[in-house]
Amino acid sequence: MPDMEQAAKEAFTKWRGDADRVIVARAPGRVNLVGDHTDYNDGLVLPMILDRAVYVAARLSLDGRTHHLWSENYREGVTYSPEQWPRVRPGHWASYIAGMIQELPPPGPIELLVMGNVPLGAGLSSSAALEMATGLALEALRGKSVPPLDLAQIGQRVEHRYAGVKCGIMDQIVSRAGRTGHALFLDCHTLKWEHIPIRSEGIQFLVIDSRVRRQLATSKYNERRAECQKALQCIQASDAAITSLRYAGTHHVDELKESVFQRRIRHVISENKRVEEACSAVIRSDWSTLGRILSLSHESLREDYEVSCEEMDFLAAYAESLPGVFGARMMGGGFGGCTINLVRSGDGSAVAASVTAAYEGKYKQKPTSHIIGTGLEAGCSYD
Ligand code: ADP
Ligand code: MG
Repeated sequence: MPDMEQAAKEAFTKWRGDADRVIVARAPGRVNLVGDHTDYNDGLVLPMILDRAVYVAARLSLDGRTHHLWSENYREGVTYSPEQWPRVRPGHWASYIAGMIQELPPPGPIELLVMGNVPLGAGLSSSAALEMATGLALEALRGKSVPPLDLAQIGQRVEHRYAGVKCGIMDQIVSRAGRTGHALFLDCHTLKWEHIPIRSEGIQFLVIDSRVRRQLATSKYNERRAECQKALQCIQASDAAITSLRYAGTHHVDELKESVFQRRIRHVISENKRVEEACSAVIRSDWSTLGRILSLSHESLREDYEVSCEEMDFLAAYAESLPGVFGARMMGGGFGGCTINLVRSGDGSAVAASVTAAYEGKYKQKPTSHIIGTGLEAGCSYD
């Protein structure tokens, strides 16, 4: 059994006294190569899984009466009766788990421990990983499997209802269905995906975490969603056939007055196009083209979608000034979090060290960095 799964079992034993009949499920975090703020506009995305995951160890409660939840990361427990809702605020770690339990009720109360090594709140989707790992554990306890897409949609619903984040569907789908050594090309309208092999001999993907977390990130995310909705209504006033921004064209952008809405639509249209181009670049192993696409995505997120911030601009621009870097961009909701950097093979550590020193000198905050491996697929083990 891999180390983290073993560690989850050991932590469970420490917590409950033994780990008899415990199942351990895992689901990975993700990076998104390109395609930000397109998923909730029925658009295209190209994420890939990390080799970091959230692990859930669970079994039916021995007391037969109460749900017992424990977070090893927060060193905190929550206990509640199945007829009630736990007394936690929306977005508290236990709310994601209780939401999944609500959607996929196990045959009785459960004991569930969660631990993980996906950085929390960094834009690497620890929340979707938590939902999917909990979902897989519940499937095992119920003895009934749930199709991956259905589980992803349940996770999304839980995040909307119980965490207050109106997330798209990308994170849950890639966490549940992503494959080792592949990116996942996902059409968020048809909800069909394709696994795209990455021949990564010549490159490394480097994630740099700015350590900047802004309170306003969630409210700004929800605000951008509302703006896209309004932008769509502006287009529909003259072209009712357009059912989502995915199907808007550059002529729609040209017809609108210079405005926030025009800029938002321009980002969505250009970003969808970049995802298609990035997908072909990955297939061809054309890393300089992929690098250029990352840079253009950053520029669009900064100028048109206005979700970047000074620290992310610095991280991306500084990385791109270094030898061996094909391209870099901010990733995720915005206003902090991580950049993804496409780097020539073997240069990842030197680039990380150089960016770290420059960023620390300027912002008095030390970023963390990870070179991404080939990815750890979601799964479950019974022993
Ligand atoms: P991201 O998904 O980018 O990491 P979010 O704010 O969407 O950021 O989700 C982070 C939240 O998910 C945490 O605040 C916590 O509530 C929950 N979470 C994720 N991983 C864990 C974990 N290993 N243990 C407990 N809670 C977790
Ligand atoms: Mg999240």
